[in-house]
Amino acid sequence: MKRDDEAIAWLDGEIVPAREARIPILDHGFLFGDGVFEGIRVTSAGIFRLEDHMKRLETAGRAVGIEPIGGFAQVREVACETTRAWGPRAGYLRLIVTRGVGALGIDPATCPEPRVVCIAAGPAELSPDKEARGLDMITSSLRRPAGDVLDPRVKSLNYLNNVLAKREATHRGADDAVVLNSLGLIAEASATNLFVIQGNRLETPPVSDGALEGLTRRTVLEIGHDLGFEVAARSLGRFDLYAADAVFLTGTRAGLIPVGSLDGSLISQDARSRVREIQATFETRQLELSVPVH
Ligand code: PMP
Repeated sequence: MKRDDEAIAWLDGEIVPAREARIPILDHGFLFGDGVFEGIRVTSAGIFRLEDHMKRLETAGRAVGIEPIGGFAQVREVACETTRAWGPRAGYLRLIVTRGVGALGIDPATCPEPRVVCIAAGPAELSPDKEARGLDMITSSLRRPAGDVLDPRVKSLNYLNNVLAKREATHRGADDAVVLNSLGLIAEASATNLFVIQGNRLETPPVSDGALEGLTRRTVLEIGHDLGFEVAARSLGRFDLYAADAVFLTGTRAGLIPVGSLDGSLISQDARSRVREIQATFETRQLELSVPVH
């Protein structure tokens, strides 16, 4: 079976196979990337950090002025209903709120009814080889837009900056890209947060440097603290990755992924056992932080 073939979707109150779900082409989510979304981890115990995801979605909705009919409580219910249809097993939800159908022009005032869609699919799998060697990364030539251009903290449907960074990585024979902000500081990877371990320090760029406030990131910071690391959100440059004892990426669908190289130079794997320790703690923590829905 091809990946995502078993994906299902909640659309207009019904659960359907995702590949059969259709939305109207005048939806501004399709026309302009006008909408917000969440990627949410589903575990055998329920929905991971559900309230935190709803809070991030609601904040993004407020930032762009999208208020679904029935409010975000209704959207939360859609996530729960989709998860029940998916079953008590590992998965990934894509919960989307678009501006809805309107005129061909950009004016959001022509869209009276935001659209809610939820897709459930399986988790991403990293090949054992990649897990062992770590991802080969490049530094993207694209910069992450500043907060006064398009705030990277808003998880909007406008992902072209991220898509093009990923495309550049693929074209240059790498797995993913490190994306810098306009000051040359690391923001994150194309669609995951970035961490470094150096000695007993566990560090990640602050969201003000252009990172999304990832919920895997938040969990890893909490775990790091519990494991006795000195944790900090600190500005990082490319040199910090070469100076690190280990570098890894975090995201809902991917989990924790080790980095093996950057722009053709190897990244140290000296602290790999500590990354594994964080990974192992994350496995149990994700169940503890899941909200039961079944
Ligand atoms: N950064 C970006 C740009 C993302 O899209 C994501 C989600 N894929 C992340 C970071 C990781 O966030 P989370 O841990 O909440 O999935």
